[in-house]
Amino acid sequence: MKVLVVNCGSSSLKYQVLDMPSEELLCKGLVERIGIDGSVIKHEKIGQDKFVLEVPMKDHTDAIGHVIDALLDKDHGVAASMDEIGAVGHRVVQGGEKFASSALVTDEMLKTVEGLNELAPLHNPANLLGIAACKKLMPNTSMVGVFDTSFHQTMPAESYIYALPYEYYEKYGVRRYGFHGTSHRYVTAKAAEMLGKKVDEVNLVTCHIGNGASCAAVKNGKCFDTSMGLTPLEGLVMGTRCGDIDPAIIPFVAGKENMSFADVDTMMNKKSGILGISGISSDMRDVEDAMAKGDKKAQIAWDVFAHRVKHYIGAYMAEIGGADAIVFTAGVGENSAPMREDICKGLEALGIVLDKEANKVRGEEKVLSTADSKVKILLIPTNEELMIAKDTYEIVTK
Ligand code: ADP
Repeated sequence: MKVLVVNCGSSSLKYQVLDMPSEELLCKGLVERIGIDGSVIKHEKIGQDKFVLEVPMKDHTDAIGHVIDALLDKDHGVAASMDEIGAVGHRVVQGGEKFASSALVTDEMLKTVEGLNELAPLHNPANLLGIAACKKLMPNTSMVGVFDTSFHQTMPAESYIYALPYEYYEKYGVRRYGFHGTSHRYVTAKAAEMLGKKVDEVNLVTCHIGNGASCAAVKNGKCFDTSMGLTPLEGLVMGTRCGDIDPAIIPFVAGKENMSFADVDTMMNKKSGILGISGISSDMRDVEDAMAKGDKKAQIAWDVFAHRVKHYIGAYMAEIGGADAIVFTAGVGENSAPMREDICKGLEALGIVLDKEANKVRGEEKVLSTADSKVKILLIPTNEELMIAKDTYEIVTK
């Protein structure tokens, strides 16, 4: 069965088609600037050159229409008719406490997800637009929602309750939800394979460090704690997000700079993190280049980033009583050997010893620790789309 995977943002849409259960990737693509001048679809059938088409797209239904055209195209398509697309898997960011696993898209499910929009105002409405567009153009195709939060629903209250008046949890759902769950779940399953253990036997600290970044403490294959919170702002230092700060900084700086809540929110989400400290870029490669030229703030941004990941590795090992492995994944985790080295520096006392030679690698599944390292260090490229396709296939064939 061919499964279409859709990851829909407010003005962009990423997609892939995978053959399941063989897991073969058939094509992938990106639609950008939906509803804005200069809409474009970039489509790539695996093994062929990229096909790029600039064409006005006023909304997500237009965008999905062009995706369908690309999938059916006689040159760069992957299906003779849409009947060959057996199911669509949609990434949905916030599933709240309602969805501890992926679920078939039904009217009731959509209503529930809509009710969670308030908790993820930047993401969930866009995810819902993608689902609505697909339902309109593929009314007879089964669809599945795969939530970023589901994997973290196994966290105990001690991990997810904030020390605020408890009524905010009861009235508004203010608690830690965590995100990147599909990625943490994917690398957990892969790590178990690499360690030769069953999934429910592995204890891990998984570090998904890309532009967005989060760590998870995985105990017996289940999430015990994670660094993102009510929103994806908490935890690690990110490209443009501050992660953990003293909450009292918010009224202090807002008072000094005469900022509204919305201004502070934008500052913490868009102007902080690696960009905020370095003043150069949110991209770690730019920061590394600037560091090489002796830029002091770039060096501080790099060091703060590494320090925060190290902080969570230590904290999470304490929470779950030691780990079988530390896993690195996502843009920085998969590609930056120097960042992995700096994160692991000083962790030897916890039995985590990096093999610097083995660490000279990018984007492939590999053990990076020395033979005598008590805790293994694993590099595992993430694959959220495959995870979504797997869940989708499993649910629609059940
Ligand atoms: P997103 O959260 O947007 O999915 P990714 O996981 O794709 O992000 O990570 C993107 C980030 O990965 C870039 O912003 C960049 O900082 C980092 N990155 C990619 N390649 C390298 C590299 N070779 N060295 C250092 N950082 C890299």
